[in-house]
Amino acid sequence: MSKPNELRHDNLVIGVNFPVKSTNAGTGLVGGFPWPVHNAADYKDRVPAAWLSAMGPRHVIFFLGAPDPTRHFDEQGLAEHEVELDQNGCPRDREMWFDFQGMNTLDRHVAVVLGVQGLNALTGLPTSSEHKRGLYNGPGCPKPEQYPDVCPVHGTPFEDHRRMCSDCGFEWPYQNYVTNSVTDPMFRFWWDGWRGADGKIQQFAMRPASAGVGVAQQVLGEDRALGLSLAVFLKKRPKPAPVSSYRHSDFLESDIVSKGFLGGGGKKVYSFGMGGEEEEEVYRSPTLGTTREATRGDTTRGGVLGGRPSVSRIGAPSRMEFVAGRTVFQKLYSDNSTLDEWRDEPEVTFTLIPVDMAWAAEVTKYGPTTRQVATGPFAGLKSVG
Ligand SMILES: [Zn+2]
Repeated sequence: MSKPNELRHDNLVIGVNFPVKSTNAGTGLVGGFPWPVHNAADYKDRVPAAWLSAMGPRHVIFFLGAPDPTRHFDEQGLAEHEVELDQNGCPRDREMWFDFQGMNTLDRHVAVVLGVQGLNALTGLPTSSEHKRGLYNGPGCPKPEQYPDVCPVHGTPFEDHRRMCSDCGFEWPYQNYVTNSVTDPMFRFWWDGWRGADGKIQQFAMRPASAGVGVAQQVLGEDRALGLSLAVFLKKRPKPAPVSSYRHSDFLESDIVSKGFLGGGGKKVYSFGMGGEEEEEVYRSPTLGTTREATRGDTTRGGVLGGRPSVSRIGAPSRMEFVAGRTVFQKLYSDNSTLDEWRDEPEVTFTLIPVDMAWAAEVTKYGPTTRQVATGPFAGLKSVG
């Protein structure tokens, strides 16, 4: 059974968190705040036709309602209790991150190629085969790539271990995907944003298309794709050693405590997305001794509405764009395997489309509308003959 914030396809699962932007965290990571996502296949009669034609057996479309932090809540068709507001009555800015830890228990390693509207989030390189950058031609579909020796744009050999290209001034990551096939015990399987030229990560934030500051909007213009795509690849072979017999939650907790992440304070640590129905305080700490609490006091969740006057017609959603937010401390861990160890095709590609929050709420307020019907023509019909 899926949780409301999960992108799920069989046992492949990604948790979506969308907490309020932290104003005093420096470069610290924000905590967990599960945010509801909706499978477009459950609302086939209500979602735009372009979404329906993009769906496939291994291409699952989700949408999510995102508040616009640049406009008064009232102008967005929102009620005051639905969003946390700043002093001007605008929804507070939020930062999105993805939790892949639910896939740590699979029998094989996982790689996630993250594309944001047609640009790889780790390299900034285009995905579409119609787009080129220098020597680099978009592969046409999400694909794991590694850049151990030369710049993929210039062909220039890297100067040092940081994989800096002197022609573009970009520190290239070892690979264009996030994977749990790594050896470093400090590794945690989550991802928060864009990787900039300096190698630093800028958090995924959201703005309306009209603001013109979407990253893909600025680079690709109208050519940009619908949303954020997360292509999940599996290794050809299972993990060499048996998986730990601990439950995932036990593993994470004991691991963090044993590493001294809590500074000996002995505070309870919760794992992500493994708890009960109510929201839990979540701690994330990529660096020793800087455990932070999740942002609290946000009592509403997107798309969960009550008492709002119903709108009789559903128009088209307003598009929201992914923009580069606050710089956070996050390290990309290099894959310890070679590309030929990965399957050629993704098991599934999730596309996550951000839309205005009032539209998402209106479409989903009575639950799924796609009816499952009995197989076969006229199955189970009563007869009068
Ligand atoms: Zn270069």
